[in-house]
Parts: sequence; structure tokens; C-alpha cells
Amino acid sequence: MSQPSPLETRLRRLIATMGAISLAQYMAEANAHYYASRDPLGLNPDGPGGDFTTAPEISQMFGEMVGVWLADVWARAGSPARVLYVEPGPGRGTLARDALGVARRFGLDPEVHFVETSPTMRSAQARLVPGAVWHDSLADVPTGAPILLVANEFLDALPIRQLVKTPRGWRERMVGLIEGQLAPVAGERPMDAAVPARLRGLAEGTLLETCPAASAAMVEIARRLAEDGGAALVIDYGYAEHRTGSTLQALKGHARHDPFAEPGEADLTALVDFAAMAEAASHGGARVVGCQQQGRWLKALGIEARAQALARAHPDRAEDLHAALARLCQPEQMGELFKVLALAGTGWPDGAGF
Ligand code: SAH
Repeated sequence: MSQPSPLETRLRRLIATMGAISLAQYMAEANAHYYASRDPLGLNPDGPGGDFTTAPEISQMFGEMVGVWLADVWARAGSPARVLYVEPGPGRGTLARDALGVARRFGLDPEVHFVETSPTMRSAQARLVPGAVWHDSLADVPTGAPILLVANEFLDALPIRQLVKTPRGWRERMVGLIEGQLAPVAGERPMDAAVPARLRGLAEGTLLETCPAASAAMVEIARRLAEDGGAALVIDYGYAEHRTGSTLQALKGHARHDPFAEPGEADLTALVDFAAMAEAASHGGARVVGCQQQGRWLKALGIEARAQALARAHPDRAEDLHAALARLCQPEQMGELFKVLALAGTGWPDGAGF
């Protein structure tokens, strides 16, 4: 076996001296290192193709549909002169480039504000979106103007918390050491009070997963929408109804990886609980417009006509375009698992496709 990385060595030492750490702390530290040290996005599983890919990297059509949606809602809101395009976790900047390219054709040319913690990703974004302004957190984005916010595959990377029903009651799922290796363990402290009363009686072995950081981000976005107006699109893989069970997974080189092996060297994600996200948004004061499957939403926005037009203009790319369309929209590919949640701010209309 290869030598443990400096991060793994530090986590093992920390746990050996202080005891198990929360899964949220583990995931936060692993992902901070992961995103700071590489550009993980790539299409090619065989070459230097990264660990996973995302809808905007699959096809320009994805960002274009987002741009159409933003321009439409902005026009129906009366085309306010000053508006901020806000994108947390913009990856390579591809989505912003494609969406803003379309938006400008409709007269929408917003200030661009990125929320990004990774210096590596920031430099990639600067290449594709000149003129963008960066912030470390959503709270730092200037206030006083409506926002058009887009987040794609941002929430799934945020640290989750898991609670398990044991014979002794509810316990937090922590990361400890088993025979010297990082592994999930049940915490000692009774956590029954952290479980909503209606769920406390669930069967032994039941696991509840929450993402406090994602809920907090939704509340923050919703508050902005309530105060300054605007609209938001939150897109990710996840489920629309509350459910139980662990959805923690690690991806490395486009394949599943043990989430507790090589922390910081694989992408750690969890499915997004869209029911919880919608609740948090309502709580923060935004109007929930709807939560739609990605495939249906893209079709409602006209992605099929766009694919045909592109194929006519570039017959050599027709096959690739067809494959990309299928990948984004087919239920057995990204079409059903990925959801689009739309929010509206005070005085703003409902966006299209819900
Ligand atoms: N939205 C992009 C990239 C998704 S990958 C796309 O669709 O292609 C996740 C992105 O979120 C990366 O840019 C990563 O650096 C960033 N990120 C991860 N955790 C973050 C955090 N806590 N705060 C801000 N950005 C974060």
C-alpha cells in the first residue's frame, strides 16, 4: 500500500489523540484539500480526465438553457438595469460563460460574482469569464441589487451529518480508527434530542442524513432574494422526497471509491435532499417556484430544438450533440436523478419550466 498523504496522517493523529471526529468535519477537510489541489472535472475516464464530469462540461447546451431561463425571468421582472449573476462553486466557469453568452443576446449583461474557495478553480474561471469578482462565501456578495443565482453540483460537495439508530438510541456517525485505518464508527454521545420527535421511533439501523451547510446556504440565498429580489436555480443530483439511508459516495477516476480511503484524493459527495432545501428556502423568505427533473426542465426550455439547430449548423458534430442531449435528458442517464429547484424573490415572477 502507498504511504498515507499528509492530510490522512494528520487526521489519523488527530483521531488517535482526541477521539473520533464528525463525518461533517471529515468531509469538509477532505473536500477542501481535494478542490484546492486539482481541477477534478474531466470527460475522459482513461486519460488525464479527472474524477467526474458535470452537465456544463458535457455540452454548451446546458449553460445555454440556463441563460435562456435567466434572460426570460429578468425580462419579465422589467429588465432591471443593475443585476448580479451569482454562482457558488462555478467549476471551470463553463456554465457561466455559456449562460451569459446567451443572456447577453437578450440584453442581460449582469455583474459576475463567483463564490469559490479553491485557488486552482479560481484561475480556471478567470480564463473563461474575464471580469468576474470572487468571494469566499455567499455572505460576502454585495447587497442592494437583485441576484440571478445559479448553483450546479455545488450543494452535493458540502459536508453532511449522519445519525444512526443503535440499540442504545440515536448516535452520530463519526470517523474513527479501526485497526489503524479511517472508518465510520458510532459516536458515544446520545443524540436523540437532535432527531425530530416524529422520526425518533424509527427502526434500529436506520440512518438519517442531513446537510446543515447546504440548508444554511439555501437560507442565505433565500434571504437575499427576499430582500433584493431576483431568482435562483439550484441543480444537483438528489431526491425530491425525504428518505433514509446513507448517500455518501466517493468518486475517483470516474469510478466509485471507498469514502474513507485516501481522504482529499477523491471527490466526496452526498445526494441533495431537495425537500429539505425547499423548506430552508421558504424559511429564508423566498418563494419556491418548483422542483423539476433535469430532463423535463431542459426539454421545456427547448433543448431539443437547440440540438437540432446546432446539428444542422455543424453536421460533423451531429452524433456528439445527439449523445450529449441523451446524456443530459434521458431518465436512465442524468435526466431523472438530477433535479432543478427554482426560487423567486420578492416581486419577481416564476421562472419557466415548472
Ligand atoms: N458548478 C461546476 C462545478 C461543480 S464542482 C460545474 O457544474 O461544472 C464543485 C465546485 O464547488 C468546485 O468549483 C469547487 O471548487 C467548489 N466548492 C466546493 N466546496 C466549496 C465551498 N465550501 N465553498 C465554495 N466553493 C466550493
